[in-house]
Amino acid sequence: PPHIAPTRYPAPRRDPADLARDLPRAKLRDWMPRRVLVTRSAAPWPLAQRVMDRAAAAGIEVVELSGDRITGLKGGTEAETYRRAKSTLAVVVAPPSQMRPQPIPPSADWRFDLATGCPAHCQYCYLAGSLSGPPVTRLFANLPQILNLLPDKVGQGHVTSDDPARRHEGTTFEASCYTDPLALEPISGALSQTISHFGAWDAAVQLRFTTKYADVAPLLDLDHRGRTRVRFSVNVPAITRRFEGGTAPLNARLAAMGQMAQAGYPVGLTVAPIMPVEGWRDAYDRLFADAARALAPGADLTVELITHRFTPGSRDVLMGWYPATTLEMDPAVRSQKRTKFGSVKFVYPKDLMAEMRAALDASLARHLPRARFLYWT
Ligand code: SF4
Repeated sequence: PPHIAPTRYPAPRRDPADLARDLPRAKLRDWMPRRVLVTRSAAPWPLAQRVMDRAAAAGIEVVELSGDRITGLKGGTEAETYRRAKSTLAVVVAPPSQMRPQPIPPSADWRFDLATGCPAHCQYCYLAGSLSGPPVTRLFANLPQILNLLPDKVGQGHVTSDDPARRHEGTTFEASCYTDPLALEPISGALSQTISHFGAWDAAVQLRFTTKYADVAPLLDLDHRGRTRVRFSVNVPAITRRFEGGTAPLNARLAAMGQMAQAGYPVGLTVAPIMPVEGWRDAYDRLFADAARALAPGADLTVELITHRFTPGSRDVLMGWYPATTLEMDPAVRSQKRTKFGSVKFVYPKDLMAEMRAALDASLARHLPRARFLYWT
């Protein structure tokens, strides 16, 4: 296999070992759009009204569109279109095709969407190439209709029921496939509404979402009944600082995980995308050590490990959005993998994958021996 040299990025400004000391003072990073667009069909929904009220209170421009088409995102250059789209929140009604829950292994039995699009600026973004057009965030105002479709799926799906370690979770529903729901919470309140819905839902179900944000204050007092697992997407500082623009700092995410666990939520670490950056063994080892320090003993913790990958399509989109990126996306040093739909993705070569997995498994066993490991991909 081709040899991949460790990618050399500048050393972090601070030693990650300092993170734990900073946890109580951890800095959050809220996102607020510059502009809110509300389509004609979305406007009558209470959620749209709430967004308009919050936007108005924050002095954000609100435009009520005369139809259902999102307009005004295109700029003179690709960079301008990107900037406009990323700073806009469009409140729309999800069409029936987008409301239907879909299978989503290996994370959960089913996925449903509160929104599509994300305001952060990760240079490896998973959404690149899977959502077409300018990268605007579309928030779904018809949330009650979306939630009403979930009961049909209870007891169906094979991800959690076939896994003895997860069977007790019941039917799992993933809400962060196409967005970061916590990023939108200050303006939308949709995540709190969904967590409360699952809390009041007397069935063996679990809501799951993953986030790179940290403002969990609105979630701490909700009547969640332990039916929501929040996973914090984390990585080594050389990656979070360089490639995850607009997200909360790593120490804030770890502190938020500790707060959520203290509030009785099951929590998780989504370590992604794992990359062999310079000094990766020690850096991931320190990451797990820092995560362990952020949690009280006995916290209900899962771990998902996801290596970096890209497709020809996502690479093209990302190179257009971030032309100066130093992120390694070189097909020549990767292995090709075919998905079950016949498309190609580029992953790390087998030997390197095995080496990274062995090292991260060992770190996990050392620092978080009680965590439930879900999958490596
Ligand atoms: Fe993309 Fe996730 Fe980053 Fe948002 S937080 S930009 S969805 S990778």
